[in-house]
Amino acid sequence: MNIRKILVVGGGTSGWMAAASIFKALPNVEVSLVESKSIPTIGVGESTLGQFNIFLDMLGLKDEDWMAECNATYKNGIRFNNFNDLGSSYDYPFGGRDRIDIKNKWAAVRDCYNLPINESYNEWHNDNSLLMKYNRCTKNTDGLLDAFDFRYDTSYHFDSKLLAEYLKKFCTGVEHHYDNIVSVNKDENGYLTSVVGEVHGDYTADLFIDCTGFQSRLLEKEMGSEFLSYKPWLDNDRALATHVPYKDKSKELVNFTRCTGIDSGWVWTVPLWNSLGTGYCYSSDFVDDDTAEIQFKKHLGTDDVDIKKINIRHGIHKEGWVKNVVAIGLSYAFVEPLESSSLASTHECLLRLVRTLKDRDCCVNRFDADLYNITSANDIDSWRDFVAIHYAASSRDDTRYWRHQTQEKSYINLGRGKFIKHNVINDGITFDDKYQGLSQNLYGYSGGWTYVMAGNGYKIPAHKRQQEYNAYQSYGLPYSSDEVEHLYLQWRTRIKKLTSEIQKLPSHDIFLSQHIYT
Ligand SMILES: Cc1cc2nc3c(=O)[nH]c(=O)nc-3n(C[C@H](O)[C@H](O)[C@H](O)COP(=O)(O)OP(=O)(O)OC[C@H]3O[C@@H](n4cnc5c(N)ncnc54)[C@H](O)[C@@H]3O)c2cc1C
Repeated sequence: MNIRKILVVGGGTSGWMAAASIFKALPNVEVSLVESKSIPTIGVGESTLGQFNIFLDMLGLKDEDWMAECNATYKNGIRFNNFNDLGSSYDYPFGGRDRIDIKNKWAAVRDCYNLPINESYNEWHNDNSLLMKYNRCTKNTDGLLDAFDFRYDTSYHFDSKLLAEYLKKFCTGVEHHYDNIVSVNKDENGYLTSVVGEVHGDYTADLFIDCTGFQSRLLEKEMGSEFLSYKPWLDNDRALATHVPYKDKSKELVNFTRCTGIDSGWVWTVPLWNSLGTGYCYSSDFVDDDTAEIQFKKHLGTDDVDIKKINIRHGIHKEGWVKNVVAIGLSYAFVEPLESSSLASTHECLLRLVRTLKDRDCCVNRFDADLYNITSANDIDSWRDFVAIHYAASSRDDTRYWRHQTQEKSYINLGRGKFIKHNVINDGITFDDKYQGLSQNLYGYSGGWTYVMAGNGYKIPAHKRQQEYNAYQSYGLPYSSDEVEHLYLQWRTRIKKLTSEIQKLPSHDIFLSQHIYT
């Protein structure tokens, strides 16, 4: 299949991200985009991950170019309140040192001094945790923080509708149409030859990118790719979303997304430059929509909000690339936004597609599509598992919803069964290198799992040092008591000094005023 002309169908964030990627990375390919004026975009999606910078790199965009137009702010991690238990809180700071020796040192010190698992784990492994704790920002040009790369260990909050608007302007070489696609034409082998618009008739292309959101107009409706629900892993199928004004911006504009567990799900709080984006993600198996709205408003402390209701379609299509149709974004898959993985999956799929087309000089075969499908599905399934572990590892059982998550539901399907088979061993460790490996993405090892497990009180084994860790668990400390005391004092001294330096850095709102909203 020779691809010289690509049509993107859909003008939400995914559609414009797709058009921008192809326009920028494949200059010899003709790109057009058709979007409906009458079918609305999903209109939420404000929190992203560090990999977003790789997408920005591909487009050649710097923060100063786009952030101010999209009400964007920085994000150093995610804080989970009331997830492990009512009243509890843990942080997932991005980045961090994945040095294989330090986890065993931490384990030795932790047990000797009876340290709180989550806080001590974060402080040992990731200086970014202190930026989150004190709501401070730095580009780290003076190397104050160890192993902190501002560009890739910081991500963004932004208004995804405004990002789509920005990318629309960026796509100067992309032909743009407003039309409703109502049918398609196929050749004798089942490949699309054109999609048919209500207004302008046929739109021809060699490859069609379906960005039509949950409708999956081309992939599912025309190409018949089966939808595989994530319901056995994840229960939340509804969301209520809104924006609220800041009461005290200097305090509320924090450098992290907050996820707070409430009665039948959880509430996100995303600090944008102009307001706080917030929403309740819940399961209709445990609460009806009206009661959910009451719970959400009670959490917000106000009735005076315009609420948008969203039905979530949780799952993935069996194949994202079928013949000459590739679905990107919600039309392909969705995992609830607890880990802000949706736009991350979108740009990872886009990078994968662009790389495939580039490497193969735009002449692709079924094998290329199969490779794309296997990697994309593995990637998104691993997000599903990562999100599920936030519930699986929790101890909450104070409502019917939380009891179901932590006491009744089995997680035997995590990692397609690999979890139980390979990773439950009789010494209290509940996952190991193989399981962590599931969180690997295109860009290498990501340590997110460890922060969530530590946040839930699990003792984290050293990556790739399983045997050593098991030996420690079974036979005692590999370090003498003098060595442990030395490690402890060294760590405390370092954290004390670093804390004092970090408190001198600008807070998030001031940092944004200095660098972006000047
Ligand atoms: C509750 C919730 C919270 C979320 N939070 C986050 C988050 O924090 N972080 C994150 O990364 N992601 C999040 N997401 C996901 C994020 O919203 C989406 O990934 C993102 O907005 C992209 O959506 P999309 O472009 O794929 O689909 P949509 O926004 O639905 O766009 C679909 C487009 O297709 C067009 N279209 C549809 N049918 C036709 C047709 N027949 N003809 C022509 N055009 C058509 C529509 O007009 C529209 O332009 C969240 C999603 C939900 C549901």
